[in-house]
Amino acid sequence: MLNIFGIGISVMPVSYHLKNTFCPCCGGHNTFRTRAYLRYFQVFGIPFLPLGKEIWAECGQCRSQYARTDFSAGMELALEQSMKKLPLRQPVWYSLGFLLLLTLLLAAAAVFTLVWFL
Ligand SMILES: [Zn+2]
Repeated sequence: MLNIFGIGISVMPVSYHLKNTFCPCCGGHNTFRTRAYLRYFQVFGIPFLPLGKEIWAECGQCRSQYARTDFSAGMELALEQSMKKLPLRQPVWYSLGFLLLLTLLLAAAAVFTLVWFL
């Protein structure tokens, strides 16, 4: 079934290893890796506008997962240090629909201007 518009979710290719952290569930040291998700508004399957990012951390030992809102202070600090080294940037193609629409509007305005003045 083809959705005309809706919300899409995509896994971002960047993952961070959270150093100097302890898992509150199993007590594992340095076992967290993060995964980032990007939510975007899509039209006919084409990403139109990015809506936001979510970051989750998963323990490599016990597989417990934590949303960023549940991060401990140490996990948040490790994440911020990792993001300083390798920032989490959203790819430009998640705004592809908006850029295509803007291009079409500018082209239409240029054609209208040419027709009006010539
Ligand atoms: Zn664990």
